[in-house]
Amino acid sequence: MYNFEEITQKVKENLSDFRFQHSLRVSEYAQELAKKNNYDIQKAKLAGLVHDYAKESSNEEFLFYIDKYKLDPELKKWKTPIWHGIVGAYIIKEKLGIEDEDVLHAISVHTTGDIEMTILDKILYMADWLEPGRDFSETLDAIKTKTEANLDYGIAQQLSFALDFLSRKKEAIYPKTLYAYNYWVGGIK
Ligand code: GDP
Ligand code: FE
Ligand code: FE
Repeated sequence: MYNFEEITQKVKENLSDFRFQHSLRVSEYAQELAKKNNYDIQKAKLAGLVHDYAKESSNEEFLFYIDKYKLDPELKKWKTPIWHGIVGAYIIKEKLGIEDEDVLHAISVHTTGDIEMTILDKILYMADWLEPGRDFSETLDAIKTKTEANLDYGIAQQLSFALDFLSRKKEAIYPKTLYAYNYWVGGIK
């Protein structure tokens, strides 16, 4: 069993207060979603707690880990929003000693989503978006209610929102985000 106290302390030390508080809320809400989906509550709690651990790491650190773990060199073209999940999973494994592959995978895809996602991938992806600290609107409230009944509904909504948001800002779309969108929203299975 993981030492949650020790991990919480390490997450706190590595993040600004607002992001640490976000991590705690994601962890709480991930546990709620786990209960509703008969999933392992401890794994959901852990994934939520550590998912953004690497978000305030320096560019140099991310680039170092991309080389160290021989990750796809294409990753070097991207920045923190993409790195903190995909590269972050390796940093979290190394620095927090988390070996659970289900948890590490959920962290890896927590920003982009993916085509086929495990229950934990879906729980973390949705908890990150729907945690109570996010700006709430009636639309998001309705999405939350429906997601609690069916995670897949939420995944499609979130991906649709993400593509819309990114394209309006003229941001580059990471290939995995696009594949996930085509799968969950565009019906390309
Ligand atoms: P946070 O870490 O809790 O703030 O949430 P996320 O990990 O979900 O997202 C981090 C950022 O990544 C957000 O600002 C998203 O808009 C952004 N993001 C998600 N997918 C993509 C993508 O495909 N391309 C780019 N450029 N940014 C993305
Ligand atoms: Fe994140
Ligand atoms: Fe987050």
